[in-house]
Amino acid sequence: MAKPPALVLSSGGLHSLVVAGIASRDTRIAMLHIRDGRTTAQQASLAFERQAGHFKPFRQWSIDGAFLRQMSLPVETAGLVTSTSSDPYGPLIPAREMTLLALAAGFARQIKASAIFWGAHFDPKSTDALARNIEMVQIVNQLLETSMGEPTLTVRTPLMGLEDSQVLELGYQMGVPFADSWTCQMPGDHPCMACPACSRRTRGFRAAQLTDPLVTAKR
Ligand SMILES: [Zn+2]
Repeated sequence: MAKPPALVLSSGGLHSLVVAGIASRDTRIAMLHIRDGRTTAQQASLAFERQAGHFKPFRQWSIDGAFLRQMSLPVETAGLVTSTSSDPYGPLIPAREMTLLALAAGFARQIKASAIFWGAHFDPKSTDALARNIEMVQIVNQLLETSMGEPTLTVRTPLMGLEDSQVLELGYQMGVPFADSWTCQMPGDHPCMACPACSRRTRGFRAAQLTDPLVTAKR
């Protein structure tokens, strides 16, 4: 039987890469990248294109989402940003996750997908953030059912609650191309290896006892 279609929401990062691998096992994927205006938008977009080249989705979109930055709260009023995410200022954008998922739902419906795969991840140690986001996904799923009706469209977050090393082990087992993912918070052709996101990536690879091909690539 033919695999059902599904949409992968991809930032071009590591978790997007692994979640695309998971989605590809049981579904035919389409991939959506939202260019959210982050400092490293160009690197993220290039990583997305490379990931699409690997997974060969039956549809792919890279859409302009720079308006997200217009909604962003000023850094000065939000205090020091210390996020280890590849988009350190993402937390300053109100309702960011809901906006991304709403856009994904529209594209998912267009291809008659029954699932949106989202590489959302929260450190299992941050129990509050993890619980809040699990609940948010449940509510979004109810909202999708109410607003879009049949056939049911569901957001799936298979990486939620996993340690970074577990995500990397999963990716390794599936043979995903880690070199095609961008994590660094700094613009440039190569990861800076000094920002909080690079440090976190390094710790993850070390804990998983894997080598990061993005770092060992010939410069
Ligand atoms: Zn970096």
